[in-house]
Amino acid sequence: MTLLDPKDWLTLHGGPAEAVEPATGQALAELTLAAPADVAEATASAAAAQRDWARRPYTERAAVLRRAGDLLHRHAAEIGEWLVREAGSIQGKADFEIRTAAEECYEAAALAHRPLGQVLPSGAPRLSYTTRVPAGVVGVIAPFNVPLVLAARSVAPALALGNAVVLKPDPRTAVCGGHALAAVFAEAGLPEGLLHVLPGGADTGQALVEDPRVRIISFTGSTAAGRSVGALAARHLKRAHLELGGNSAFLVLEDADLDAAMSTAAWASFFHQGQVCMTAGRHLVHASLYEEYVARLAEKADALTVGDPFRAQVHLGPVIDRGQLDKIDALVRESAAAGVRIAAGGTHEGLFYRPTVLADADPSAADGPGSVGTCPAYTQEVFGPVAPVRAFHTVDEAVALANESSYGLALGIVTRDAARALELAERIPTGLLHLNDQTVNDEPVAAFGGSADSGTGSRFGGDANLDAFTETRWTTVRATPAAYPF
Ligand code: NAD
Repeated sequence: MTLLDPKDWLTLHGGPAEAVEPATGQALAELTLAAPADVAEATASAAAAQRDWARRPYTERAAVLRRAGDLLHRHAAEIGEWLVREAGSIQGKADFEIRTAAEECYEAAALAHRPLGQVLPSGAPRLSYTTRVPAGVVGVIAPFNVPLVLAARSVAPALALGNAVVLKPDPRTAVCGGHALAAVFAEAGLPEGLLHVLPGGADTGQALVEDPRVRIISFTGSTAAGRSVGALAARHLKRAHLELGGNSAFLVLEDADLDAAMSTAAWASFFHQGQVCMTAGRHLVHASLYEEYVARLAEKADALTVGDPFRAQVHLGPVIDRGQLDKIDALVRESAAAGVRIAAGGTHEGLFYRPTVLADADPSAADGPGSVGTCPAYTQEVFGPVAPVRAFHTVDEAVALANESSYGLALGIVTRDAARALELAERIPTGLLHLNDQTVNDEPVAAFGGSADSGTGSRFGGDANLDAFTETRWTTVRATPAAYPF
């Protein structure tokens, strides 16, 4: 029995669009986008449904979440095909998304069972306690790259804790990042009105942030858009969780075992075509290993296959669209013009960008005689399969280079001395740290989030979701009315 019915995707008022397969340019389905008027209608329906949902027994909410997790597995083939064709995922990444989204649902089901608050001491003869209460309607704005997980990580806990949700997926992944989740929750028995899916652009996202019924915004996307969402949310006095961009450092210390390190190094920059917020954007390698590292990473990059992940077994699929490809290519070209050496890749066919290794990615050297600028593929987030590599000579220099970025999302360190790496990592503040592993890691039980330009320090995952998707109420109870001086 199939899960998805394309007729459900034609009800919005923002105009017609198509779900497009980036690998071929083929239209996979017709759909409609949301208009701001759809936002008001969805939030009104969500607010009405939420009042009853919040009063339902926690067991009932948990059961819906558990069924949703089971259904993600049951419909894995159908949802997986959409993740492969609409998002350009290789099959392994699609499998990871389904598994992780299901785990998000199971973890969320467990949240519904958690204690609701604390009994507090009080200086007065009264019962004093706090309770967590649902916030009401939560607005979720999600990006195209890991569309199912990055929607599910907010949708599932928000629903489990008694909220309603209006989800705005990126229009390029409207089905696998939006309609698929709605269909799963409908089949799981989620009462009508509690989850709305409104694919649309920035204007729809802004309408969601401004809507007075929405009390919490959970935004995942670029730092530029996050700044604007944060400012708008502040103007409307609502809480915004902002999970933003990155340019994460991957440090290879002089004692690293390169035989063991090259797989993690390649995965760090090339997994899902580098379109991951945690992608390693800066490989910082001890000078004694540098030339060998560049050569081996380039050899590995050259051996990877790039192609249509639906019709062939490949390591990398297409990037999401022409705009993304042009941005990646411009950053690589400008860096090459500035003196950076292209050790592998740097070419593309259609939307298939070859995994690329940029050696001598040193913006200061690139500023020297004969160069025409800095090295933007190193200093900026590329969001493509590009691994800029740069040498360091001392640990202090490695720390200084790692800290040069304005982002603070993930850090990976490869060394035989984990204790030394822990000490080193204390000098490089990031939200996520992985020793002897690469930067792209996510598990639903872990508190995920970045610092500095990578976010506001907000966290998703595990117990962090209790704070992210509820309000707190302080309550006192006396047996008789209190007496005051007048
Ligand atoms: P983007 O910011 O352009 O879009 C993300 C989402 O926000 C989309 O749904 C988009 O339609 C919407 N949007 C864009 N502008 C908006 C606005 N002004 N108001 C409201 N909504 C708006 O991001 P992108 O380039 O499509 O995605 C890649 C970016 O997302 C990268 O910077 C990446 O690092 C980041 N990202 C971060 C995380 C994380 O957890 N930290 C995870 C994945 C991606």
